[in-house]
Amino acid sequence: MQLVDSHCHINFPDFDGRIPEILQNAANNDISHLLCISTSWENQSDVIALAENHPEIFASVGKHPTTAGGHEPNADELIAAANHPRVVAIGETGLDYFRSEGDLAWQHERFHAHITAAKACKKPLIIHTRAASEDTMNTLRNRNASEAGGVMHCFAEDWDVAKQALDIGFYISFSGIVTFKSAKSVQEVAMKAPLDRILVETDSPYLAPVPHRGKMNEPAFVRHTAEYVAEARGISLEELAAATTKNFFDLFSFAKA
Ligand SMILES: [Zn+2]
Ligand SMILES: [Zn+2]
Repeated sequence: MQLVDSHCHINFPDFDGRIPEILQNAANNDISHLLCISTSWENQSDVIALAENHPEIFASVGKHPTTAGGHEPNADELIAAANHPRVVAIGETGLDYFRSEGDLAWQHERFHAHITAAKACKKPLIIHTRAASEDTMNTLRNRNASEAGGVMHCFAEDWDVAKQALDIGFYISFSGIVTFKSAKSVQEVAMKAPLDRILVETDSPYLAPVPHRGKMNEPAFVRHTAEYVAEARGISLEELAAATTKNFFDLFSFAKA
């Protein structure tokens, strides 16, 4: 059996000095690959270095919608950075009205630059959306993001938003949130979304799934999320793992197993 953690932040200081242990824990739980996600122009060199030093790790380049300060990459700079052979995706990017307020024109411009870059280099988008699903989906549609494809990461919306994402060819990735008792609408999506369009992720160090809720998350725990989704759908963990791993390599076609 093979699982992929499609979204983690093991470059964060939380994991300093623990990378060998974290990768061993992941391997012990049948996690064959991880996608480590950049959140700023400054930390993407650490993310890429992890991918250069570990064949099981892939990288993305991008600036998170709520990252403040630092260099603001334009589309050309994102395209140049994405040219690295271990970079398989653009992001995370999107809109977040929960942690940012006021005039958010800058956040929209940042999002637009990432979509332009993804379309140009044909590497898919990792989309983060929080309290902003309507504008996020309108932007993806209006800017023809389907030319690049992508995934709605750490999905926390309802079936209506899921349907809109599926309609433009995007994938839906479930994090530990789906295992939380209160997450009824996300659980509904986990049951209804087509098996060939779903992924699993940790978003570690955040959002550890049950039974580790409240503790620091790590890629090995994606197995709990996969087990939950498999059970919700009435299929085996092996079947869910095979499907989500195939979906990962279908979507991130620059990632070679
Ligand atoms: Zn995110
Ligand atoms: Zn993230």
